[in-house]
This record gives sequence, structure tokens and C-alpha cells, in this order.
Amino acid sequence: MKKTLRRALCATATLAATLFGASSAMASECAATIESNDAMQFNVKSMVVPQTCKSFSVTLKHVGKLPKAAMGHNWVLTKSADLMATAKDGIAAGVPNHYLKPQDTRVIASTPLIGGGESSTIEFAVDKLSANENYSFFCSFPGHSSLMKGTLKLGS
Ligand code: ZN
Repeated sequence: MKKTLRRALCATATLAATLFGASSAMASECAATIESNDAMQFNVKSMVVPQTCKSFSVTLKHVGKLPKAAMGHNWVLTKSADLMATAKDGIAAGVPNHYLKPQDTRVIASTPLIGGGESSTIEFAVDKLSANENYSFFCSFPGHSSLMKGTLKLGS
């Protein structure tokens, strides 16, 4: 009986692998979820994007209750050296532009600005990242990037 069960489980796993393929099996490594809250915090301070991923997806969740006009959050990726200037230029862009200067080439990836209870998922091409560069993610809502920031690097 035990043996049969094990064989059945094994067959199920093989079937799942066949159905969903290798790319889907990698999906969890090529994706990350980050939470933000009403206390102006991300729950993650550093992220590593595996070099083996073609694209990387980031899901930003706002687990707070405040609306985006008061406590909006986004997830913006730039080179670390570009963080401050990008955040500064974003302030003038306002809510309609998700607090980012339109067509800002320093922005590698960004989610829309979201409010409490919302979430957003974006995906970017991993070949935009270089192993020799330091990247930072942050929230571009005015005043948030001093607390809401972290580092991102291309890993092995
Ligand atoms: Zn924020």
C-alpha cells in the first residue's frame, strides 16, 4: 500500500513537471513578493535576481489601509547611484505619473503607485542588469525613499 502511494505521488510529480515545463518550475526563483505598509516600510531590504532568469517578476503588496494619496507606495528599480535624483525628480511628477518623471531612462522597472489593500505585479528583462552594478529599489512617494529602500543585485 505504501509503495503504491509513493509510486502514485511520484507519477503525479512527473506529470506536473511535464505539464508545466521547466520554465514554470523556475518561476518561483524568478519572482519575488514584497510587502509595504502604513508605517512606510518594505518588508524586504535586499533582493537577488538569479542570472538564470530571463525575466524577473516583482509583486508589490500594500498590506495597509491608507489610500494612495496619503500613503501610496510603488517599487522602483534604478542603479543605486540614480536613486536620490530619480526620487527627487519624481516628486514634481505627482500621483498621475506615479511620482516618476515620465520616460525617465534611469528607471529600470517600476510598479504603479498603489494604496492600502492593493497589489501590483510587474516583470522586467534580466538582461537589463549587469553583474558589476549596484541597484536599489525604493518607493518614490515624496519622503518615502529614505525609509523605503533596499538593494538589488544580479546573482548567480
Ligand atoms: Zn511609499
